[in-house]
Amino acid sequence: MNFESLGLNAALLRAINEQGYTQPTPIQAKAIPVVLSGRDLLAGAQTGTGKTAGFTLPLLHRLNRHPHDRKHKNVRALIVTPPRELAAQIGESVNDYGRHLPLRSTVIFGGVKIGPQVNRLKDGVDIIIATPGRLLDHVSQGTIDLSKIEMLVLDEADRMLDMGFIHDIRRIVKLVPEKRQTLLFSATFSNEIRQLSKGLLHSPESIDVAPRNTTAERIEQRILPVAKSSKRALLSWMIGSNNWRQVLVFTRTKHGANRLAQQLERDGLTTAAIHGNKSQGARTRALSEFKSGKVQVLVATDIAARGLDIEQLPHVVNYELPNVPEDYVHRIGRTGRAGMEGEAVSLVSPDENGNLRDIEKLLGRKIPREHVEGFDQDAAAKPNVRHSTSDKAVEQRKRQSRGSHNSNDRRIARNSRSAKRSQDKNTRSNSSEPSNTNAWRRKHGKPGNASQGKPVRRRTSGEVPALLGG
Ligand code: AMP
Repeated sequence: MNFESLGLNAALLRAINEQGYTQPTPIQAKAIPVVLSGRDLLAGAQTGTGKTAGFTLPLLHRLNRHPHDRKHKNVRALIVTPPRELAAQIGESVNDYGRHLPLRSTVIFGGVKIGPQVNRLKDGVDIIIATPGRLLDHVSQGTIDLSKIEMLVLDEADRMLDMGFIHDIRRIVKLVPEKRQTLLFSATFSNEIRQLSKGLLHSPESIDVAPRNTTAERIEQRILPVAKSSKRALLSWMIGSNNWRQVLVFTRTKHGANRLAQQLERDGLTTAAIHGNKSQGARTRALSEFKSGKVQVLVATDIAARGLDIEQLPHVVNYELPNVPEDYVHRIGRTGRAGMEGEAVSLVSPDENGNLRDIEKLLGRKIPREHVEGFDQDAAAKPNVRHSTSDKAVEQRKRQSRGSHNSNDRRIARNSRSAKRSQDKNTRSNSSEPSNTNAWRRKHGKPGNASQGKPVRRRTSGEVPALLGG
């Protein structure tokens, strides 16, 4: 199937071509004809499947059939989505796909000044992409009128409910006309979502692309059982020894995200944290620096990371498992997007075994375990092993970054000197640590160039711990 056969207009086909898309993804192939036909749609699709274009392209096509009446400045389509970042990304997609059409759109979210948004609205827009709270602020100020809406899209509906937006959504639905086309997208279908959809959609067409609550096939998942106190050392080691250039790391709390980001910085990794307590400016900056490669590790909480679209993100790490099993699916959906391969590694300490069981129950299968020598769940009882291994990660990063002179390198060098001292001490006192590089190499093979492939399984140095298949 190609985009031409879906019946989209020439201006949209041109924009699609400029995006480099050659064929529709499964959700696009199914959703576009339904939306073009004018029917309501209930779609099960997680982020990363191409769902944004699945609703944006036919929405633009339909709006363009009756161009904007400049005199009345009516808002004609409303896309509601929970986190600010996702609203901004959908806004970018609307701009990209609609670049050859005379339609105007704007993005509305909280955490930034309302004035510039009001000014943009004054000129009249056809499409608003908004988070629920700020949208209702505008409605109550009289700066947005939803009474002429023709198309309503609720994206990531399950997350909006999780985030407690159900009352806002019900208020918004009361403000839009009864006669409209409604599209509801959700990665998962709880009873609550089904209830909501019953009241919102009229004889909807249902489509479900990824079987519900399953994770994208191209994502390789692994569990590394690890003592809680060794998690940070293991994470630093994995990133450094495998030379991962772009890693998204999930923590459960904002405070945990800040603390981990600081620790990783001290380990010499350029790191930023992104969570709800950060200002919108800080969040946008962290994301763009992460996307551009300036920041190597982005530590995020679930809500902040929801909907982040970073092309070709190769590594996601669950530093802590989420309490809600569905969040695991959302988290790892940040990698393996649009058909790319990706890897999701979860560091699981004994206190999280219950969460892991819930996640595996939801997925309907077990995730493979791999044990990292010196870091497994029992390793807490062997502090020397743990410390000396983490120090070696610091040493290793020092070697990798030799020759450059930025502050991180200086910090690595500083850490490494103290690491070396403690390493010498540990090596003397701990015979389980491979102290003889050549002997280690004879046993485990040549050190590899660990920048690609399945990084944890490769060894960049004879001194780093080995992974034992588990
Ligand atoms: P989404 O699930 O909407 O967040 O989209 C995930 C990613 O897939 C985005 O980076 C899109 O640019 C990309 N994408 C969407 N549709 C296609 C397509 N037909 N071919 C290739 N990439 C696509």
